[in-house]
Amino acid sequence: MKKLSMILSIFILCSCVSESNNELTIYTSRQPQLIEPIIEDFYKDTGIKVNLLSGNAQELMERIDIEGEDSAADIFMTVDAGVLWQASERDIFSKTDSEILENNIPNHLRDPNNQWFGFSKRARTIVYANDQFSESDFSTYEDLSKPKWSGKLCLRTSKKVYNRSLISSMINEYGFENAKEVVSGWVSNLATEVFSNDTNALKAVSSGQCGVTIVNTYYFARLLGDPKYDNLSIFWANQDDRGVHVNISGAGILKTSKNKANAKKLLEYFASEDAQYFYASANKEYPVIDDALIDKSIKSWGKFKEDTVNVSMLGSLQKQAVYLAQEVGYK
Ligand code: FE
Repeated sequence: MKKLSMILSIFILCSCVSESNNELTIYTSRQPQLIEPIIEDFYKDTGIKVNLLSGNAQELMERIDIEGEDSAADIFMTVDAGVLWQASERDIFSKTDSEILENNIPNHLRDPNNQWFGFSKRARTIVYANDQFSESDFSTYEDLSKPKWSGKLCLRTSKKVYNRSLISSMINEYGFENAKEVVSGWVSNLATEVFSNDTNALKAVSSGQCGVTIVNTYYFARLLGDPKYDNLSIFWANQDDRGVHVNISGAGILKTSKNKANAKKLLEYFASEDAQYFYASANKEYPVIDDALIDKSIKSWGKFKEDTVNVSMLGSLQKQAVYLAQEVGYK
């Protein structure tokens, strides 16, 4: 029943699907209001109208499979490289060769086979209570597994793809067994049950239930300006080694698209310097191109060194990450 109502709501959201050449349709699990301003600008510049059909990533991928050749979708857009990797495993993307995409988007933020591309960067790092700790207390994700953090750590559930991707990045860096030791240390240090979302983990740190957590920075950005959360500070993890774990929101052109040339134009538009600012700042994320402006509300956090492992690795190691979390009882 839930599924049926989801499918119905998808239809209501987009009653405007068309296959005409001057229209494109994006199936997106990234919230539509984050991309609407950019596709309006794209329409003004090119005369190409973009329709959005919004829904849950897994359901949209299923729908693309079911619709097959008849699908009106030209582009699949989603968050987390793990999901983009799954989409390419399902063989729904075509290859898009574009000098603009290759030049503008760093290697590690796109699929090595050019099936999908990252258009914003999502950093997942440490946020701590500055009324309990100071900057010098922190160093790495791994350090949070040490006994000194016992009863101080709050985490979101490992069922969320963001944490699976973070664990994947650790498996990639130093192998399954070492990563398992780290995550097992986290679990022993938990102050509370795991949270269903990053925002509640942040609130628990602010209220003193725990002292530190790991979140995507845009969730912290949403709390900025509320004096209640002035006791939260960000810490860029692992700056002396591999850098902060970054993930992406991204998109690729579908195999079944009848408008691949226009779809490519739109992806290239997303990767342009101006659009990059709007695309990233709409959700207080980071642009994928270095020269693009960063939202002013998060500028004070400064620059950070990021892990440059190719984000497709976060997908291919996902199964191991799930297994690892189960093994150590990280719910
Ligand atoms: Fe999120």
